[in-house]
Amino acid sequence: MPEEIAAPVTNNFLRTIIDEDLKSGKHAGIVTRFPPEPNGYLHIGHAKSICINFGLARDFGGRCHLRFDDTNPAKEEQEYIDSIKESVRWLGFDWGKHLYYASDNFDQLYQWAVYLIEQGKAYVEDLNAEQIRAYRGTLTEPGTESPFRSRPVAENSDLFRRMKDGEFPDGTRVLRAKIDMASPNMNLRDPVLYRIIHTPHPHVGDTWKIYPMYDFAHGQTDAIEGITHSICTLEFESHKPLYEWFLDNLPVPARPRQYEFARLNLTYTVMSKRKLQELVRLGIVSGWDDPRLPTLEGLRRRGYPSAAVRSFCEQIGVGRSDSWIDVSILEECVRTHLNETAPRAMAVLRPIKLVIDNYPVGQTEEFTAANHPQRPEMGSRSILFSREIWIDADDFMEVPSKGFHRLTIGGEVKLRSGYIVTCLSVVKDGDGEIIELHGEYDPASREGIHTADGRKVKGVIHWVSAENAVNAEVRLFDRLFSDPNPDRGGIDYKQFLNPDSVQILTDCRLEASLADAVDETRYQFERQGYFCLDPKDAGSGTLVFNRIVTLRDTWAAKK
Ligand code: ATP
Ligand code: MG
Repeated sequence: MPEEIAAPVTNNFLRTIIDEDLKSGKHAGIVTRFPPEPNGYLHIGHAKSICINFGLARDFGGRCHLRFDDTNPAKEEQEYIDSIKESVRWLGFDWGKHLYYASDNFDQLYQWAVYLIEQGKAYVEDLNAEQIRAYRGTLTEPGTESPFRSRPVAENSDLFRRMKDGEFPDGTRVLRAKIDMASPNMNLRDPVLYRIIHTPHPHVGDTWKIYPMYDFAHGQTDAIEGITHSICTLEFESHKPLYEWFLDNLPVPARPRQYEFARLNLTYTVMSKRKLQELVRLGIVSGWDDPRLPTLEGLRRRGYPSAAVRSFCEQIGVGRSDSWIDVSILEECVRTHLNETAPRAMAVLRPIKLVIDNYPVGQTEEFTAANHPQRPEMGSRSILFSREIWIDADDFMEVPSKGFHRLTIGGEVKLRSGYIVTCLSVVKDGDGEIIELHGEYDPASREGIHTADGRKVKGVIHWVSAENAVNAEVRLFDRLFSDPNPDRGGIDYKQFLNPDSVQILTDCRLEASLADAVDETRYQFERQGYFCLDPKDAGSGTLVFNRIVTLRDTWAAKK
């Protein structure tokens, strides 16, 4: 069940409008809706819309509907419907009994189309799509009226009924509103209301052979559901006069109002469903839930906590001017959340063995390590120490560079929550590759960072005992694109794919406690980043961890 979500504090223009509408008595309560078309998976941009719509309803004591805007069976599937519901729930929102489909209203919408025909405000068009486009005119030139615009009402009624009965093939006729072919707003130049599509629909099966356009369905559905504030992204601003034309010209039961906000644009990714679909279809990513995608299923699988996604949406605010948000802001929200909540653990991602020659063969001992440095209530765990341990290859340099404070030959380093050790020699294979390190420990250094004789040791490294370490695969994810704006016009966005967006390490050694890791727990692997089990590929004795995010913004350093 969704966890309790704290109400946000920031104000925005939508809150101001709603506040006034409630105070003035224009509305007794508010009703919003989140209206996805089930033609793909939801992404982080949709999360913004979900947080706005469900958030406003929550904060003003109203309700928010989940409505599938399912007017195009050629592109929609049950798989998408299921995934969308799951993602909204994952984000922590609940539509209660208010789950709707635009297609639930197909009968009513059909009757309203017939009503417009009878009023002389709609006609059946025989021109094909290309001709309709040519007749529509341009932004600087008015359109030309179709020769079918003046068809008698009776003929329109008859043809429209026969369109509905499936008498005509796809694309042969459409129903258009008769508004104004010279309007400066292209959306008012006799917009198409209905088209013929002989494709079964995921929700209403093969009942219908004609389908309403988005514009003809959306506002009327808002009215039927009693939506008070119909909140959408700015590209619908030019559709608003049409939205209102339908409400003015049809006997609708209520008068919703449309408000627009700026969509979320995020750097280093793409969000158009068509491009996400293409990445999946071409196998560039493993599926809609690939942890590198900005889809909610992808972020979830990657290990992003939904609370971090919500706080990101809250932080970016709601405005009316288009802007870009750097993905590092999202990553920082994830870090902030995980820093507070993630238990610490030690994991050696690129293992190299260190043999402690002065530690007795067969002997082991246990250290106690806190699960969180600032939160004693999160408890502690015991960590095994033994003669052979794994350390990270990155933490050793045979010839140290300046400022390298980790292990070197003759150098000392503190094992986190363990002893101080020194490296004395290196064993190599025939190719000169290091096979293992040998060294000694300082028995007097069990606690703290001082040696027996009081020398202070600068470097602290993570490690695991070779005695009980568990093997794991660890997937290091990075940004899918190496350019901040891959989705710019005219250039194939795929040329900006980051060749290093995933690195798979198959021979990692993890502290024994991680053998019992559970799906929903996110860990900080000390000095490495935040990780969680891959919900799909981990299981039955196989440990597969995803890197959720690095400890610091490594891209900022690169720039
Ligand atoms: P398409 O038009 O390709 O189907 P879409 O992303 O607009 O894609 P919808 O299913 O229509 O898909 O979107 C549902 C709701 O989410 C709409 O109200 C839309 O305005 C909103 N939305 C979509 N993308 C974003 C975004 N990047 N930022 C904020 N809101 C968004
Ligand atoms: Mg859309």
